[in-house]
Amino acid sequence: MSKLFDVYPLNNIEPVKAKGSYLWDKNGVQYLDLYGGHAVISIGHTHPHYVSKLTEQLNAISFYSNSVQIPQQEELADKLGALSGYPDYRLFLVNSGAEANENALKLASFHTGRQKVVAFKKAFHGRTAGAVAATDNLSIVAPVNYNKHVSFLPFNDLQAIEAGITEETAAVIIEGIQGVGGIKVASEDFLKALRKKCDETGTVLILDSVQCGYGRSGKFFSHQYAGIDPDLITMAKGMGNGFPIGGVLIAPKFEASHGLLGTTFGGNHLACAAGIAVLDVIKQENLIENAAKTGAYLWEGIAGIGGYKELRGRGLMIGIEYDFPVKDLRNRLLFEHKIFTGVAGSNTIRLLPSLALRKEEADIFLEALSKEIGILAL
Ligand code: PMP
Repeated sequence: MSKLFDVYPLNNIEPVKAKGSYLWDKNGVQYLDLYGGHAVISIGHTHPHYVSKLTEQLNAISFYSNSVQIPQQEELADKLGALSGYPDYRLFLVNSGAEANENALKLASFHTGRQKVVAFKKAFHGRTAGAVAATDNLSIVAPVNYNKHVSFLPFNDLQAIEAGITEETAAVIIEGIQGVGGIKVASEDFLKALRKKCDETGTVLILDSVQCGYGRSGKFFSHQYAGIDPDLITMAKGMGNGFPIGGVLIAPKFEASHGLLGTTFGGNHLACAAGIAVLDVIKQENLIENAAKTGAYLWEGIAGIGGYKELRGRGLMIGIEYDFPVKDLRNRLLFEHKIFTGVAGSNTIRLLPSLALRKEEADIFLEALSKEIGILAL
C-alpha cells in the first residue's frame, strides 16, 4: 500500500518529460496539455530560457534566508510592476496561492482594525485556515468554523453588495474570474461597484488573481478589463511555471512593519529566478497577446461545434458547461485523444493551457471535441 496520505484522485498516467504544450508518459505516449497542471504552466513546459535561468541560479546560490540581500527579489518586483501595470505597488513574496491570500487577509485586517470578510458564492481561495474560511465549499472547511467572520454574497449581484459590505468589513476578496467555481467572469459593472463600495466603507479590496492572473485572461490581470485598481492583488500558479512561488502586490497606502509578515522560503533565489524567467518570456514572446488571440480562436471553434449549455471565460481560461456530467467526455479526451483538460463542478470542461498555445494545437483539441460531441449527439 502507498505510504502517501491519500488526498488526490490520480489518473493512471506518469509523465516523465514535457516540452511546450506537450507531455510524454513513461511509455513514450504523447499528450497535449490544455490544463497546464491547473493553470500553472504559463510559458510552456521546459522553456529553454527558464531552464537556463534556473540552472544558472542553482549553480550560484539556491537559498539563504530573508535576513540577507537578495537582489533577485528587486528585479522580480521591478519586472512584475512594469509588465502588470502596477509599478508603484510593492511586492511580498510567498510560496503558494493560499499563502498569498492568507497574507492579504491579514494585511487587510491590520490595516482596517476590522475582522469581517466578504467573499462570494462558489469562491475558491485555498485550503489554509483563513483562505479556506473565505472558500465557499463546506466539504473542505474544518468544523472548527474558521469562517465565522465571513459572509458569502451572490457573485455578480449588484444589489447584494449594497447591504453586504459595511464599515465593519475589513476585506472583500474576489476572483476576477472564478476558476474552481466554474469559470465565471466577474462583470465589469460588478467590479466597478465593488471598488466604489469599498472606497465608501474603507474596506480593502483583494483581487485573487491566483488562477486568472499572469496574462491568462488576455490582460495581465483579468480585473484590468474593468479598469479598477484593487488594494491587494494575490498571485501564484503561473508566476513560477511550476516552481512554487506566489506574491501579493500591495498598494502604496499600506504601511509595512518588520515582522508583521514573513515566510522562510518566500522570495528565495531559485523561486525568484523562476519568476524572472517567466516574466522575461511573457514579455519577449508577447504571450499576453497570444492568450487573447489564441483564446479567441479557441472560443470561436468551440462555439462553432456547439452542443453546450454555456461557454464562459476570457483569453486562455475557458469553461464549457454542458447539460450533462462531463467526466466521461473528459476521460475520452484524455485516454482516446491524449488531451489533458480539467473539469469544474460536474458539468464544465475547463481549459487552462499554456499562454504560448499555438493555433495548430488548438485545432487538435477542436477536432477531438467535435468528434466527441458528434458521438454524443448520435
Ligand atoms: N485562489 C485561487 C483562485 C485558486 O484557484 C487556487 C488554487 N486552485 C488558490 C487560490 C490556492 O492556491 P494554492 O493551491 O497554490 O494554495
